Amino acid sequence: MRAVIYPGSFDPLTNGHLDLIQRAGKLFDLVIVAIAQNDSKPPLFTLEERRSLVEQAVALMPCVEVETFEGLLVDYVEKRGGHAVLRGLRAVSDFEFEFQLALMNRKLNERVETLFMMPKESYTFLSSRVIKEVARLGGEIGCFVPEPVHRALKQKLRPAQPVGPQ
Ligand code: ADP
Repeated sequence: MRAVIYPGSFDPLTNGHLDLIQRAGKLFDLVIVAIAQNDSKPPLFTLEERRSLVEQAVALMPCVEVETFEGLLVDYVEKRGGHAVLRGLRAVSDFEFEFQLALMNRKLNERVETLFMMPKESYTFLSSRVIKEVARLGGEIGCFVPEPVHRALKQKLRPAQPVGPQ
């Protein structure tokens, strides 16, 4: 069974991530979405919230599993018996960072190959960071994220209710 590991923060999952998961599902028997615990940027959603949102979005995809991991990606890939790591390339701006990461991972463990896939053109401008920013400012993000993520973002970013006179 050929398994590919798709690591990331998924804070939160967007339709761009989902597009990549679907594409990878056509090439591999199993796609493992691996949500990273040790992220340098403080996440909006907890690890368990991120995992639950991805699980809801891939519930009807039998060839997809969702896991969390901490520590070095290459160690996790080895432990999980993954055949490759999947990363997404949206634009040239992603390339430099992804190139560095892929070569560093190869240096750490030369058995780990990194594959890059491009999403549908209309998702190339989508990132979790932009989605959070637009949602925070009250913009409509329903067509960029799965419904459970849409609901969770509204809930999380709901403006605090003003405290009235007692
Ligand atoms: P990280 O914080 O590790 O970059 P992300 O959750 O932001 O994690 O993204 C995980 C992977 O998915 C990265 O390779 C990123 O380039 C890719 N990705 C993110 N958004 C999209 C998108 N809209 N289309 C394709 N790939 C994407």
